[in-house]
Amino acid sequence: MIIEKVSKNDEWEDYYILSKSSNKHYMITFDILEGTVNCDCEDFKYRKENLKFGGVKISDKKNHCKHIRRIMELRDKLK
Ligand SMILES: [Zn+2]
Repeated sequence: MIIEKVSKNDEWEDYYILSKSSNKHYMITFDILEGTVNCDCEDFKYRKENLKFGGVKISDKKNHCKHIRRIMELRDKLK
């Protein structure tokens, strides 16, 4: 996987993942103010539909897709 930090400010962090094996790309967005995280993959959309509130918390690791988990692992190193 190729991971790129697209943008970062006090409110948002955006990351872009390109999966070499499937040749698909995904955008992962952290909303720092809300404390939520989002990925545009199908797996994550499905997880979100099962939640009653508006977003998945950054701390809510059991609802993260594999892309978010990967970014979370690398996030500190990229800073
Ligand atoms: Zn994902």
